[in-house]
Parts: sequence; structure tokens; C-alpha cells
Amino acid sequence: ENAVLAAARKARELNEAASEPSGTAAAAAAKKASPKKSAPTEEEVAKTCQFCNKHDARFNETTFHQHYLRTCPVLCPCPLCGQVTEISFLQQHIVHECEHKAMVRECPRCKEAVRAEDLDEHVKAKTCIAASSSYAVCPLCHEKLPPTEKGWRLHLTKDPGCVNNARRFDGGDGEEFA
Ligand code: ZN
Ligand code: ZN
Ligand code: ZN
Ligand code: ZN
Repeated sequence: ENAVLAAARKARELNEAASEPSGTAAAAAAKKASPKKSAPTEEEVAKTCQFCNKHDARFNETTFHQHYLRTCPVLCPCPLCGQVTEISFLQQHIVHECEHKAMVRECPRCKEAVRAEDLDEHVKAKTCIAASSSYAVCPLCHEKLPPTEKGWRLHLTKDPGCVNNARRFDGGDGEEFA
């Protein structure tokens, strides 16, 4: 089992469980939003990144691994442990599951991970962005986003992409296939 892949998948599952749209209105809206088009073939699904939707016929287990590690614009390495995580899940990873989580505390106001020794000062300063269910906050640039999978996808994978993301919004020129 590929460790990076497994970790990324796990983050994905946790994320989806947490952001499942609920209620019939949401379900109806979702149905409406996807016009009928022919279902993608198994081949297309197998060659498409489940995170950024990049499709390339050269994707296989090895090149997906390189893509997650180096170029997928929806993922980033955790700054504390290096594990590849969805950017939308980064703060939760650091606070709740990172092997170095003892170094940080979750700020009660912004819900971001703050170095334990900096927490008092951070909270007192009150300059962080208060967490809200009406928006998500990008951990890289602190822009407020619609709190939906689409909001994240537009921010990370559409031109110009997140200004602080070290990875290109479109996944680059295929470095993972070199
Ligand atoms: Zn990707
Ligand atoms: Zn970590
Ligand atoms: Zn804070
Ligand atoms: Zn950003």
C-alpha cells in the first residue's frame, strides 16, 4: 500500500464525511446543477486525479504518487510532519492527527493551529479571522471561501489559483511524468 496515497485518501474521506450536504434542498440543487452528460468511462476515472480532477492518460500508480507529492494543487505537505494532506484539511490534520500535534494548539477563535508557546499572544491579539460556518478560510493565503468543495476547487485549481500555493493551479506542465 502506497503511504502517501493512503493518507491522502483518508483525509479525503474524513473531509467528505464532515461536509456531506444534508437536506433535500441541497440534494435537489446538486441534481439540478449536474446536467445530463454521458458518464465517464472507467478508463477516464482511473486516469483522473480524485483531488484536482486533472486527467492525463499517463497516470498510473507511480505517476499519481509523484503528482500527489509534487504537483497536485489541492494537496500540500504538512509543515510539521511532511505528510501530504488536502489543503482544505490541513489545519484539522495539524491539530488532530499530526504526529507533532503536541507542538500546537487549536485557537478557539480561528480554529487554526498555533504554536503552543504563541497561543496566549495569538488569542490576545484578536487579529485572526473568526471561524464561521458561512465561509472557509484558506490556510495558505487566509482568503475567505465559500465553505463548499466547489469553493475550494475554484480557489485552488482555477486561474490564478491561491497566491500562496507553491504548486501551480493547473498542476504544472507534467513534471510528474518526467
Ligand atoms: Zn491532483
Ligand atoms: Zn502533520
Ligand atoms: Zn486564532
Ligand atoms: Zn489560498
